[in-house]
Amino acid sequence: MPKEWNFKQELVAVFGKPIAENPTQYMIEKAFAHHGLDWRYLSLEVEPEDLADAVTGMRAMNFRGGNCTIPHKVAVIEHLDRLGESAAMMGAVNCIVCEGDELVGENTDGKGFVQSVREVTDPAGKRVVILGAGGAARAIGVEMGLAGAVGFTIVNRTVERGQELADLLVEKVGVEASFVPWDGDFSVPSGTDIVVNATSIGLFPDVDARVPLNIETLEPGMVVADVIPNPPRTRLVRDATERGCTVLDGLGMLVNQGVVGFRYWTGVDPDPEVMRAALQEVFGG
Ligand code: NDP
Repeated sequence: MPKEWNFKQELVAVFGKPIAENPTQYMIEKAFAHHGLDWRYLSLEVEPEDLADAVTGMRAMNFRGGNCTIPHKVAVIEHLDRLGESAAMMGAVNCIVCEGDELVGENTDGKGFVQSVREVTDPAGKRVVILGAGGAARAIGVEMGLAGAVGFTIVNRTVERGQELADLLVEKVGVEASFVPWDGDFSVPSGTDIVVNATSIGLFPDVDARVPLNIETLEPGMVVADVIPNPPRTRLVRDATERGCTVLDGLGMLVNQGVVGFRYWTGVDPDPEVMRAALQEVFGG
């Protein structure tokens, strides 16, 4: 049977580095199919000098939105019409949403993380240790603060970056935050509710790399979250599970940031199970 072509497909796109097999594309397209949406998610390689033209192209071709990855998360801002609240605080955009004639910059990484946390506990009133101070840590700190977490300890190897994140949380989000330089194995202070590895330690292929942490200081009542999606069962996830902590892997954050983006673009609440299953096909876990 010849298949009828539909020329009215809605498009969203990711602008980033070349990605041979883009897991996010796979996850989002599985969800489009599951929800009967005749949409496409394309992976498009855009060089930094072509970013302005790429965003103009999005407008011209009526894209409904897109994601953007390193190195475009900050540079894209000047080409957009406005920013969502948390993206403005972070100064970074990973999700573009077309609203009427406007392109709006959002950041879904931290929102995805908060959603994962909500599945096990309410972030409100919690004391959080964040290991790392890069883009993921920044997104997590801002969104957890907006979700009501009250105290943050930022632990980072590079002093300037760590202090900058602690200052941002105090000044822009209005929470308590202090910086601790990461020197040797970090001991998690008792009274901590949530510990987050927001570094790239443990990412494939360095799967045996150890997060410099005194594992004995992880207590059974704590939630331990790792941002690393590949592999999902990192060394930290395994160690924290053994210590009796409530553990969140990086797939949850990746699925949930996709859920938030999907909802922004389509107005449909996607089934997170379908999306997680798609990622598990790619990453295992
Ligand atoms: P950045 O490069 O912005 O930051 C990396 C952070 O890791 C910095 O704080 C860096 O410290 C720290 N770090 C790296 N190596 C070491 C080490 N050997 N010892 C101590 N600290 C180290 O990266 P991102 O924040 O954008 O991403 C971090 C990780 O988060 C990536 O692996 C990425 O895959 C993951 N991620 C997962 C998402 C998900 O949905 N699951 C979403 C977004 C990111 P320093 O400042 O000293 O260099």
